[in-house]
Amino acid sequence: MDMNENKRRRSMLLYILIAIVAYLAISQALGSNLTATHVEEVSYSSFLNMVDNNEVKAVDLNTGTNELTFTTGEGDSQKVYTTTMWPNDDTLIQRLNEHKVDADAQIPDTSNNFWLMMLISYGLPILIFLGIGWWLNRRMKKAMGDDGPSMNFGGGFGMGGGLGKSNAKEIKGEETGVTFKDVAGQDEAKESLEEIVSFLKSPEKYNEIGARCPRGALLVGPPGTGKTLLAKAVAGEAGVTFFQIAGSAFVEMFVGRGAAKVRDLFKQASEKAPCIVFIDEIDAVGKRRDTSLSSNDEREQTLNQLLSEMDGFDNHKGIVVLAATNRPESLDPALLRPGRFDRRIPVELPDLVGREAILKIHANDVKMEPGIDLGIVARSTPGASGADLANIINEAALRAVRMGRRRVTQEDLLESVDVVIAGEKKKSTVLSQHEKEVVSYHETGHAIVAATQKGSAPVSKITIVPRTSGALGFTMQVEEDEHFLTTRQQAKDKIAVLCGGRAAEELIFGEMTTGAANDIEKATQLARAMVTQYGMSDKFGMVQLGQPASRYLGGGQQLTCSEGTAQEIDAEVQALVEEGHQTALRTLQENRFKLHEIAHYLQKKETITGEEFMNILTRDDGFAPKMPKTAE
Ligand code: ADP
Ligand code: MG
Ligand code: ZN
Repeated sequence: MDMNENKRRRSMLLYILIAIVAYLAISQALGSNLTATHVEEVSYSSFLNMVDNNEVKAVDLNTGTNELTFTTGEGDSQKVYTTTMWPNDDTLIQRLNEHKVDADAQIPDTSNNFWLMMLISYGLPILIFLGIGWWLNRRMKKAMGDDGPSMNFGGGFGMGGGLGKSNAKEIKGEETGVTFKDVAGQDEAKESLEEIVSFLKSPEKYNEIGARCPRGALLVGPPGTGKTLLAKAVAGEAGVTFFQIAGSAFVEMFVGRGAAKVRDLFKQASEKAPCIVFIDEIDAVGKRRDTSLSSNDEREQTLNQLLSEMDGFDNHKGIVVLAATNRPESLDPALLRPGRFDRRIPVELPDLVGREAILKIHANDVKMEPGIDLGIVARSTPGASGADLANIINEAALRAVRMGRRRVTQEDLLESVDVVIAGEKKKSTVLSQHEKEVVSYHETGHAIVAATQKGSAPVSKITIVPRTSGALGFTMQVEEDEHFLTTRQQAKDKIAVLCGGRAAEELIFGEMTTGAANDIEKATQLARAMVTQYGMSDKFGMVQLGQPASRYLGGGQQLTCSEGTAQEIDAEVQALVEEGHQTALRTLQENRFKLHEIAHYLQKKETITGEEFMNILTRDDGFAPKMPKTAE
């Protein structure tokens, strides 16, 4: 503490010294030419005219702003003007050169008047000292820890206290009037939220039994999938007040304001309880705290305040904190602990059925010609989010108005699909028919290899709805139990499964696509780890040949062996992956009828469950594969 104190004093002195020197220098520079002459202000275009008429003799471009001073005439007839330059006029220099105007002239800064003088001689130093005060205030806060009392450097500089208080009226609660009926699809999410609704409706029931209801739930999913809408619907269903604030609104310029806002928010919430507090885009505050010195302590302080509020509030009253993010991986783990956002509710992009349902909801708001087929729109928009679909309907309505019609036609709808999708292609990936087919085979390839390998977890879902992660589809496998050890056979099976996507493409289309890049990366990583870390290769046995480059950041590997060995490792890794590739090719060759059938089914349905998949695969039509006995 003493050391810190000393350091702080020394740096304070240093900064005061710098401030004085800076002040003296600036006032010297500005004060030396404060001779007041008459100055006329003219428009920039008349300035350009004067240049073109060769009236302008000299220009001072060195004022550092877009104000410039120039002179006309010479000797006694010299006149000084100022004008405001157009932004980014990069033809000026050339123009001045053409008309032989001295562009580097030192023209006395005559725009100074008495008040500007006053400002420079008194305002500037005050500003500098304020700046130092603010800076030291920040430093002290940091040094005192997050919950340290707010220090007011020097007492007289007016920073700190006053600004740290947030205006309580900033955050208002509202009745949303939105219900689950307004949210189409997202049945799983709604089901998870149902319990929160019932808790908010009658917290007493839960209190009586002593049940602890979730304090927080995190809605996770790509943008535009209805996270905000769902949160509002929870409030609407339960008929409670809805407090909404964006995570970015907490991150303020002044220290302590974010934290104060959080305090305020929860104070108001507890007055209005039962209620919902919704923090949109929580990743703005809730980013992983890092230990590096450059960390943003304002954000951290806000996050800490949020955590302590969530731990502290009296849950008997019924306050539920919902938050939404599309970057869950960047969240601080502390936020996800029990008692905080311990429920994670995925809000995914809608599949075909979901898309049609969403279109229907929004179609209710506009007048449509009878006999409109929304199914076509749904089928032609794989990868579109709920927001995209709402937008399509709206665009169609706008188009109808433009065309002078009173009702939306099918043509309006199909046209607006193009507008919205083509406009938003980067945001939502929409695949061509052929690409969809390739992805279907690719994913089915993974799934069939997974189902026929003994050491592989059961397939629980296959989908070709593109993800914001960049994946065009995925095959989800869910282990029956959690397990912590992986056998060599399981690892090999896993490599085969990873090769299954590419193998299916090769087998059916005789072509390769870039879609396997991620699979290849994972397969190679696993094979390499088998050789260098897990001692699973016959060639090297139980020798550690490498270790992960960074324990916390993941990523590459650091070899701990000679160069010659490194080459042999590469060969061994290659052999392992190739073995998996061959297994995959063989398996899919044997089951190509099922591969065709399931791939086509998937292409049509876009998302199928593990059950649907297994039903087709094991249906006894003479093509069913011999299934492995599930590992005991
Ligand atoms: P997010 O918060 O996930 O980015 P929003 O809740 O803000 O998405 O959704 C934006 C808009 O898109 C909503 O206001 C609604 O009009 C529409 N929308 C999105 N998902 C759905 C859905 N499942 N059902 C109905 N409308 C939806
Ligand atoms: Mg939102
Ligand atoms: Zn794949």
